[in-house]
Amino acid sequence: MSEPPSLPIQGTVLTSSSGIEYIKALQRFSDLAILEPKYIFLPSAISDIPIILSYATSQSPPIEVVVKSGGTRSSPWASSKGGLVIDMARLHNVVVSQDKQSVKVQGGALWGDVYEEAMEFGVHVVGAHFWFISVAGFLLSGGYSRLGGDHGLGLDNILAATVVLADGRVVKTSATEEPDLFWAIRGGGNQFGIVVEFVLKAFPAMPSITAGSMVYHETEIKNLINIIQNWKKTHTVDERMALGFSRIAPHFKPTVMLMTYVSGDTARAEKVFHPFRDTVKPIIDRSASLPNLFAVSHVADANFESVPNRANLQGAIVSDIWTDTVLEVWDRWCKFTENDDCHQTSILWEIDRPEKICVAGKADTAFHARDPHYTVLIYGFNHLPTTDDSIQAFISSTVNYIRKEDALKTGKYLGIPLSYARGDEAPEDIFGTNLPRLRKLKAKYDPTNVWSKGFVIKPDF
Ligand SMILES: Cc1cc2nc3c(=O)[nH]c(=O)nc-3n(C[C@H](O)[C@H](O)[C@H](O)COP(=O)(O)OP(=O)(O)OC[C@H]3O[C@@H](n4cnc5c(N)ncnc54)[C@H](O)[C@@H]3O)c2cc1C
Repeated sequence: MSEPPSLPIQGTVLTSSSGIEYIKALQRFSDLAILEPKYIFLPSAISDIPIILSYATSQSPPIEVVVKSGGTRSSPWASSKGGLVIDMARLHNVVVSQDKQSVKVQGGALWGDVYEEAMEFGVHVVGAHFWFISVAGFLLSGGYSRLGGDHGLGLDNILAATVVLADGRVVKTSATEEPDLFWAIRGGGNQFGIVVEFVLKAFPAMPSITAGSMVYHETEIKNLINIIQNWKKTHTVDERMALGFSRIAPHFKPTVMLMTYVSGDTARAEKVFHPFRDTVKPIIDRSASLPNLFAVSHVADANFESVPNRANLQGAIVSDIWTDTVLEVWDRWCKFTENDDCHQTSILWEIDRPEKICVAGKADTAFHARDPHYTVLIYGFNHLPTTDDSIQAFISSTVNYIRKEDALKTGKYLGIPLSYARGDEAPEDIFGTNLPRLRKLKAKYDPTNVWSKGFVIKPDF
């Protein structure tokens, strides 16, 4: 094993000779995303990053560079076999501005870091559902949030950012400063540089939130969908539900799950939940009053601790929650998950008010999927490598079915948000009519394709 390079940085570098530290730094949310790099750099200051990049790009041949923050992608976009990982874990500072209108977040922060600081100052930020997702990975690919009904996508709430470009320049970007770069990072993923700082809009926190889950016997599926369809006609931006298909211990029978979220006092939540408790009877009812988004972001911790390590997430977007599509997917899911090693594969239909997604137009940012929509997520979970292919086949065929049915019903194809892409989709499906501009900007900001992993955009010179 060659010695790690001695670079004048404040951070550290790990190699396979570093023992447990290296092993720990290899870990990802999904074992499917683990690869063994030659070097893992942990910058302790933003000024470390240009030095690391300069080292990587000056090697002959240049060494592959990837950036890791939350490590939650099931595709290995933040991992490298034999290359160099820049692990942003130490750059996680969060500062709420004095006027509480904005929050400065370093590029390696997780949403848990942001929610923890935000709750001290009584503000909310449009972030991910779970604390362990990174701010950068979430925002650069879209950002579906519990606050989305009110404030749109996470990336619509970025005020400014600081980016380290492939050539090592540190560039500030906003609507008025380097606006091309600002446009490209909002939906173009990791293809334009390493974001080392975001300035995000902050909003006054709501006083309390009631969130949790209710679980129903499988025979209630049709009744529950009817109640959801009724609720969906009039629900406000403060109420969101997700309809889930999951099997629960000990016998892993199919169950229907409702993930609940209502902001406001408990009395209001009780009113919203009434038909979900009265017309149908949950066999488990775990909704509770929680003080802030930090607490809400931990609601599913126990679920994630009990799932197998081979996780595979993919999603589709739909114009409506079509009852016949939901029921067909339910049948397919029940059948597929009879296999022991696929028991914990689950499906979630997320229902937020979709109007704010399309306040920004398709060409206003690089994020193209601006028709009003709902998201459907398929979480594949298995223990055995021998099950990987069948899980992948199930996920692909199900998302394709959902997308096709929606297009048939509406005559319109909504595309695929980068947030829930795998990497093998057609670039046109992800970026739509923004692709030509993205390719020109790739040539401007990363002409030698240093960012060669992720959803790669080919430069157009
Ligand atoms: C369990 C689970 C729940 C999820 N929930 C949500 C949700 O509520 N809403 C939603 O919209 N999405 C959600 N996602 C999707 C998630 O937001 C994306 O997969 C996101 O890209 C993950 O980012 P990460 O940093 O955590 O992961 P990583 O694997 O570390 O990174 C993902 C990509 O972002 C790049 N990247 C990371 N940091 C930087 C940086 N500082 N600068 C440039 N590029 C960077 C990486 O190189 C990689 O290409 C969820 C995913 C999972 C697995």
